[in-house]
Amino acid sequence: MRFISTAFLASSRHSQQQQKGNALRMSASKEMIPEAVSWCVAHGAVYALPIKDAEMLGEEYEAGGAFAHAPFALNPFEWPKAEYDKVVALQPALSLAIDSVSRDAEWLEKTLGETVASDEFTRRVWKLYQDYPNPQSLTLGLLRSDYMLDEPNGDKRQKRETRSLQVEINTIASSFACLSETISSLHSYLAAKQGVDQQLSNEAGRGLAAGIAEAHLAYLDQQQSAESSSARRAVATTVMVVQPGERNQMDQRKLEHFLWDRHSVPMVRLTLQDIEDRGIVQGDTKILSVDDMEVSVVYFRAGYSPDDYSSEDQWSARAKIERSMAIKCPSAAYQLAGTKKVQQALAAPGALERFTNDAETANEIRTVFAGLFDLDEAAAADADKAVASALADPSKFVLKPQREGGGNNLYGDEIKEALERMTPKERSAYILMERIVSQPRFGTLVRNGVPITGDCVAELGIYSAILKNEREVLLNSVCGHLLRQKLLGVDEGGVAAGFAVLSSPNLV
Ligand code: ADP
Ligand code: MG
Repeated sequence: MRFISTAFLASSRHSQQQQKGNALRMSASKEMIPEAVSWCVAHGAVYALPIKDAEMLGEEYEAGGAFAHAPFALNPFEWPKAEYDKVVALQPALSLAIDSVSRDAEWLEKTLGETVASDEFTRRVWKLYQDYPNPQSLTLGLLRSDYMLDEPNGDKRQKRETRSLQVEINTIASSFACLSETISSLHSYLAAKQGVDQQLSNEAGRGLAAGIAEAHLAYLDQQQSAESSSARRAVATTVMVVQPGERNQMDQRKLEHFLWDRHSVPMVRLTLQDIEDRGIVQGDTKILSVDDMEVSVVYFRAGYSPDDYSSEDQWSARAKIERSMAIKCPSAAYQLAGTKKVQQALAAPGALERFTNDAETANEIRTVFAGLFDLDEAAAADADKAVASALADPSKFVLKPQREGGGNNLYGDEIKEALERMTPKERSAYILMERIVSQPRFGTLVRNGVPITGDCVAELGIYSAILKNEREVLLNSVCGHLLRQKLLGVDEGGVAAGFAVLSSPNLV
């Protein structure tokens, strides 16, 4: 442990000489990496390793026999406090707006019409929504709204201030709440070792778990008034729908543990195939059960990507869940409310007002919207104008299909190539977005125990939980945050997809 003690002694001596006011300038040094990696492993900031002999073990076998530390940044990333406070304050209104969108069948149909016709995956989710009406009026949203800092101040001709612009809002499988909590604690730990107490608390994972627990109780209350049974309470469980071979498993396990330890609520992990094979929806009550366990809440950490539907079985499982009384997180409608197309449509002038209580709230939310351009055929001249701008300077745009999970967007020359090749109908499966330009800050990223240093940019995610029926808001909370940091020049941003690492904000 020599490498650690000398590093820590040196830095703690250093810290004693400094006033706390200088705290922000202090940072963990590279010598602390082994300490940081050990801390991550000890506290569960880990990722499952791919299984070498997975084929031999069969598809059912879940990754998780071996784990390594999740990729992380050695130090928090500077983020303007005013911008952080602003997006945190906006989150409850955003959650309400998304919930309202999900309940507005007419608007969804009008907005998604062309997308459904041109994008097969959106069509399938739409069909789920249409063919299997959800009998459960309560919906649980565990959302994450992601932002980047728009900082064109590097360019002196631009007089704009730094501001947060929304990259997207996730309504399905918003991940990393638990690992993000752990990385915030890692940064607190490393800072404390240097005599600095500067961290921002982050209870993202606990907050999401509290949301699921609240939904579980609401379900039991509702069902109990329908048909009282204390035995039912004892056997009802929540379900996490997972991908086979999930590598980001510890983030999910921690949520399951929070639920159990803090709320005494059970959760079982099932794939869509498991639900297809073992799930039953009762004809009269529409109660969903799996292996004789009544299911209160179905929380999806799978089902957002076409890859999650290897056969019709997975769609059939989705249908089973959708038409049951279980509270869905999310329902098909909620999943549709999180599409890129809906994001673009909400940014159109006057659109948000339909989903907010007042014009002031709509205006507040709109301040975080980047330029978003409609590529529907119906948008005709406007779409052509946007396409012409993107062809003239593709570096100013991102072209996005209706996909989640990272690695799907097009940048630079890819945009040009795609726009030139696509028919107007194919084009309407995409949206075009203004590219957000952040000023880089130096950072050290650690992957597999190895540091990589360089200029970095970051994306801040704000988690919220909303439990609501048509009339009543049972819960609308802001849970915590996620800060993903990546090297400048890397276009995409996902941690699971290998582009970014987990970090935390250092508010300045
Ligand atoms: P996904 O659903 O795949 O996560 P996102 O819209 O979040 O799709 O895009 C993926 C990543 O691409 C983001 O994490 C971010 O790093 C980058 N990105 C997306 N939109 C923009 C944008 N407008 N400007 C700059 N980078 C963007
Ligand atoms: Mg994203």
